[in-house]
Amino acid sequence: VKRNGKNGFQYYSSQLDEHVMEKVELEADLRKAIIQNELLIHYQPQINLRTMQIIGVEALLRWKHSKKGIISPEIFIPIAEETGLIDEIGAWVLREACFQMKQWQQQYYWNIPVSVNLSTQQFHQKHLVKDVENILNETRLSPKFLELEITESMMMDVARSSQILSELSGLGIRLSMDDFGTGYSSLSYLKLFPIHKIKIDRSFINDITTNDEDRAIVATIITMANNLKMSVIAEGVETKEQIQWLMENGCDDIQGYYFSKPIPASEIERLFIVPLIS
Ligand code: C2E
Ligand code: CA
Ligand code: CA
Ligand code: CA
Repeated sequence: VKRNGKNGFQYYSSQLDEHVMEKVELEADLRKAIIQNELLIHYQPQINLRTMQIIGVEALLRWKHSKKGIISPEIFIPIAEETGLIDEIGAWVLREACFQMKQWQQQYYWNIPVSVNLSTQQFHQKHLVKDVENILNETRLSPKFLELEITESMMMDVARSSQILSELSGLGIRLSMDDFGTGYSSLSYLKLFPIHKIKIDRSFINDITTNDEDRAIVATIITMANNLKMSVIAEGVETKEQIQWLMENGCDDIQGYYFSKPIPASEIERLFIVPLIS
């Protein structure tokens, strides 16, 4: 960056403008994306390390922009949250994922849960529990085949979070704590909240075979989950060595590129669902 007075400032300022413009543009496009069917869901399998069977799939949102190609949820979910579009998008993902799972059940007798990510805003919507209930009724998916992924950072208001989680759990759905270890919440939350599953964040799994600290942290999380009778899944597993270590250390399940990236529903059917009659 040039630092010669006026020019330096101008350079910075035009960059900033560009950034703002880009966001305004994306926001307008995102409004249209819903109507124009540009949103889609990819599914990533979760594998049990004992049986090596698929025990669930996570629904991950994609935006196929007409000019810019695939845009990452890390970029457009924050925009959707700021603009309130998350209401509509969140409900769409939930309905679509439940509908897909119901179809797989009817077509292939494939009885595994689908996990759907909740955003912070969605979690705090007054109508969340009602929405989830309505969508389950509408799609006729049994609640035990829906899992919602929440994060520690949503749980700031303990009393309120506790209330929402009990209501959700009361519907008969499962709850998992996503990105575990990256937030600031106290471990006692785990005892307080009706959480069924802990997802160890990818940042701890990355260097598990080389970094002693990461290994110690992951081993501790696994032991804690086992003791609390929660299931535990490692995210972002990419190598055989990581799988080996996780197996030896009592991790239940894994999710990651080693087995499969998130892929379209049709690919899940082609690669992972064995037809009963062929
Ligand atoms: P997340 O919930 O932690 O999802 C896991 C992310 O890790 C996904 O990125 C997935 O593609 C990626 N991943 C999985 N296995 C591996 C691996 O082995 N290596 C590496 N490097 N990455 C792996 P993705 O799909 O880009 O999603 C990013 C984030 O966007 C998600 O993180 C989640 O926070 C958010 N997101 C995605 N879909 C939704 C949605 O429908 N609603 C909401 N509210 N957020 C969503
Ligand atoms: Ca997730
Ligand atoms: Ca995660
Ligand atoms: Ca994440």
